[in-house]
Amino acid sequence: MPDPTVQAVQEAPSGSAEGRYMGLALAQAQLAWDRGEVPVGAVVVKDGEVIATGFNQPIGSHDPTAHAEIVALRAAAEKLGNYRLPGCELYVTLEPCIMCSGAMMHARLARVVYAALDPKTGACGSVVSLFGEDRLNHHTEVVGGVMAEEASALLKAFFVERRNAARKPAAGRE
Ligand SMILES: [Zn+2]
Repeated sequence: MPDPTVQAVQEAPSGSAEGRYMGLALAQAQLAWDRGEVPVGAVVVKDGEVIATGFNQPIGSHDPTAHAEIVALRAAAEKLGNYRLPGCELYVTLEPCIMCSGAMMHARLARVVYAALDPKTGACGSVVSLFGEDRLNHHTEVVGGVMAEEASALLKAFFVERRNAARKPAAGRE
């Protein structure tokens, strides 16, 4: 069911600012993959400048809250010396979950731009639509679908590799 509050973007024109920031978020996602974590990455942008980055790392950091968005929000708040992030935008390669959407609302983030949809935990329309809930007072604009193909291709490749690795008997290597 399409979410009327989410502005769908077919694809960011190459060379656009949105495409460039999402490209940086994808590079963060790759860092997560390199550490065996589900590849999701995020960057926080203020006045056209990337002020913080984050990648998904709940396993390595023994922290269920260490999603890419939370890591990036924490780094941005630290950098600005402010628990609120007005005027900031967050680019993330996967539709944010309930926890991350809630954190963005508390941060008074101006805008979130995500790439791929997450049909299992997405809180921007896929499972629930927190930003479409008028009873929640928030200041965050939501845009979805920027470089969605690239982001979902990365996730699919990761899960294929992980399945193949699980199937391979340890003794049979080489
Ligand atoms: Zn999350």
